[in-house]
Amino acid sequence: MPTLDTLGRPVRDLRISVTDRCNFRCRYCMPREVFDQEWVYLRHTELLTFEEITRITRLAVELGVEKVRLTGGEPLLRKDVHLLIGMLSGVDGMTDLAMTTNASVLARRAEALRDAGLQRITVSLDSIDDEVFRAMNDVDFPVERVLEGIDVAASLGLGPVKVNAVVQRGVNDHTIEDLAGHFRGTGHTVRYIEYMDVGMSNGWKLDDVVSAAEIVERINDRWPLEAVPPSYPGEVATRFRYLDGEGEIGVIGSVTQPFCGNCTRLRLSAEGQLYTCLFAGTGTDLKGPIRTGASDDDLRGILEGVWTKRSDRYSERRSEHTPGWERVEMSYIGG
Ligand code: SAM
Ligand code: SF4
Ligand code: SF4
Repeated sequence: MPTLDTLGRPVRDLRISVTDRCNFRCRYCMPREVFDQEWVYLRHTELLTFEEITRITRLAVELGVEKVRLTGGEPLLRKDVHLLIGMLSGVDGMTDLAMTTNASVLARRAEALRDAGLQRITVSLDSIDDEVFRAMNDVDFPVERVLEGIDVAASLGLGPVKVNAVVQRGVNDHTIEDLAGHFRGTGHTVRYIEYMDVGMSNGWKLDDVVSAAEIVERINDRWPLEAVPPSYPGEVATRFRYLDGEGEIGVIGSVTQPFCGNCTRLRLSAEGQLYTCLFAGTGTDLKGPIRTGASDDDLRGILEGVWTKRSDRYSERRSEHTPGWERVEMSYIGG
């Protein structure tokens, strides 16, 4: 039996942030005026080691976790991350090992990741329009190299790839249909994500959110869609298929259609803090106990305590929160 929280939600997924650094400056995540030369990143000694991450993962799997995803910051910036994948793929009882990446260096790293045991990959690509994408990543990174990463990963068996696109009104919403059109018929699935108020630095406003309903309506006007039932309980993306058989899209309506009732995710930051909600202000430290000799039983007790006391449902109660509510940054906790 998986461990349940106070609202009866089982722990099923573990998201592991392996670094708080990134080579992109997506304005909705790490705006350059905040994440500038002065920003203090974690030092290498502050990061959990691969052994520590693997140990925590093994204990989380004992509590019920089945799926593990590496994220960040940009996970491919963590040196030798394929070695971590190799270690994690040896953990018994896990059914899925995946990564979310901006794909900037995926083309040259995909083979090592696949050989180490990575099963699936999600690539973030907010627009297929080169000018729009370069402005959004704010480091002038071209679409073409992301597409190359997707192609190489797929050719090595890491596909079909899920392509995540955050939609911001007035920024990339005019390119929603072109992105869908590009991936229709390729087997890859675009998942449009409502722009969220994570962290304290992106200046989020409700007016900037394009609703999942509007996204679906616009794509449906071009290529008629029908709803597809979820492929597993708790799937966060709502799925639709093209009536002409050219594949699927997904929408993640975190703001307008919150899914806290199905939220089965535990999150581990790069420095070993456990979080149970993307919008949390504080976490629970695991690194301190590990580095002062905690036994597996001690750590199991901490993990279990964090999950069984959990009651968060931020997105369902967004309007009740005060504007100044302290939230951890997305690049720190991982998406
Ligand atoms: N750097 C990797 C990447 O971009 O794929 C992994 C980490 S990133 C924080 C994980 C996901 O979070 C990305 O798909 C990104 O688009 C999404 N994300 C970041 N900030 C967001 C926001 N404010 N609203 C919605 N999604 C966001
Ligand atoms: Fe980096 Fe990913 Fe955040 Fe963009 S969304 S700044 S690629 S961590
Ligand atoms: Fe889960 Fe928190 Fe998001 Fe709700 S707001 S779905 S509890 S991460």
